[in-house]
Amino acid sequence: MTVNYSSTRGGENHVPASLAILKGLAADGGLFIPDQIPALDHSLAEFARMNYQETAYEIMKLFLTDFTEEELKSCIAQAYDSKFDTEEIAPLAKADGAYYLELFHGSTIAFKDMALSILPHLMTVSAKKNRVDHTMVVLTATSGDTGKAAMAGFAGVPGTRIIVFYPKGGVSRVQELQMLTQKGDNTCVVGISGNFDDAQNGVKKIFSDREFAAELAGRGYQLTSANSINIGRLVPQIVYYVYAYAKLLENGEIEDGEKINITVPTGNFGNILAAYFAKRMGLPVNRLICASNDNRVLYDFFCTGIYDRRREFILTSSPSMDILISSNLERLLYFCAGSDARKTAGLMAELAEKGSYTVTPEMKERMKDFAGGFATEEENAAEIRRLYEETGYLIDPHTGVASCVYRKYVKETGDRTKTVIASTASPYKFSRSVMEAIRGSQEGKDEFELIDELEKASGVPIPAAVEEIRTAPIRHDRQCSPDQMKAEVSEILR
Ligand SMILES: *Cc1c(COP(=O)(O)O)cnc(C)c1O
Repeated sequence: MTVNYSSTRGGENHVPASLAILKGLAADGGLFIPDQIPALDHSLAEFARMNYQETAYEIMKLFLTDFTEEELKSCIAQAYDSKFDTEEIAPLAKADGAYYLELFHGSTIAFKDMALSILPHLMTVSAKKNRVDHTMVVLTATSGDTGKAAMAGFAGVPGTRIIVFYPKGGVSRVQELQMLTQKGDNTCVVGISGNFDDAQNGVKKIFSDREFAAELAGRGYQLTSANSINIGRLVPQIVYYVYAYAKLLENGEIEDGEKINITVPTGNFGNILAAYFAKRMGLPVNRLICASNDNRVLYDFFCTGIYDRRREFILTSSPSMDILISSNLERLLYFCAGSDARKTAGLMAELAEKGSYTVTPEMKERMKDFAGGFATEEENAAEIRRLYEETGYLIDPHTGVASCVYRKYVKETGDRTKTVIASTASPYKFSRSVMEAIRGSQEGKDEFELIDELEKASGVPIPAAVEEIRTAPIRHDRQCSPDQMKAEVSEILR
């Protein structure tokens, strides 16, 4: 069965997967969505016998139908290899009755590696298939983790360049150092004087500027996106939910067919949307619990059906979730509007013009698989400390939000369904927040002292990704304001 992709806003229809991957965003500003969601074509018992790479192939082949078996298997082999520090790739850790799905064992120790270690390979194959001979320029806005993971994925890949924009002052010191020390002549990092939404809007504006695209084409460049809107990121993220279910089954934690809940610390709505896709493919999932931090725009949305970004942007200890415009939500809206692109485009126009929109009662009804929750900074820190003191298991502040929201959800609903919690970053990436959560104020200590203390507290060895930045030289120092982003790109690609 061939699966093609169409824009959520109706302006571009039935393009093959490879083209959707190359384009990132559809020409009308919409997001590509598969024309139908394929069903799992193996039993859960069969999945239980597969390793990560085999699972990845069986899921991704259903979506990337214009890739040959050889192409896809080669992409998977190059992505999920010894860059990961465990052969399991995404291991499960059980703590206090919940299953933490550790998605941070890749080269930049955050869940973005799960998709960004394969995206460059999917793109290179896609470029060949579509006879693209321009240099592909990946343009990315990052709230902290995507930028590094994307650069690590693309560094040194022939025929590609990558430019990353991040909010200066809006990311952790380790995140910033990881980006500023990135090697590779084809990589470029720019700090902007604004927040993540400014960075993301700036990138979106550049993508929709046709004149600029033509000018760049004249210089031999074609822009593309590695942001979580790219289906080449969404599809690889479906894999680990199926894999997690299969491992629970293999380990006798659940019965075949037993429904589980999935809790995801959410920002741009990409990770949880992948879990929704897994459910739609037939994975036995009951509820999808969408966890927010103090930027609780999604929590309010799931409660009221009103999406309203007109609110204060709050910097939190879970910066990768400090987002007021969750781009991937557009895909859920599209499904819940009954695949109505006009309706989706209308809502998105309202969001752009007014800063808010309201879904119909029917649309809200179709979202009842989702439960929203949020954790304040204090609740999050308390949950990190509680879990650590009771079990010895140490989690990062993003996972902390999810863990806290999950515990609140159980208290409020009495729902005892077994639950997988997406654990999206290593605590080492946020050592200051984590150490403050378990030990109180750490003022006066530098990042690397805290990292050493974290090692003693957790008993988990310091990952290579953290050791490297202790001594690596700074290689990037570009900065600009949000309205200079296009000029900056133009200068970099001179
Ligand atoms: C990106 C990120 C998230 C949010 O994921 P989305 O797909 O944007 O919802 C959560 N935690 C960490 C550590 C991240 O890097």
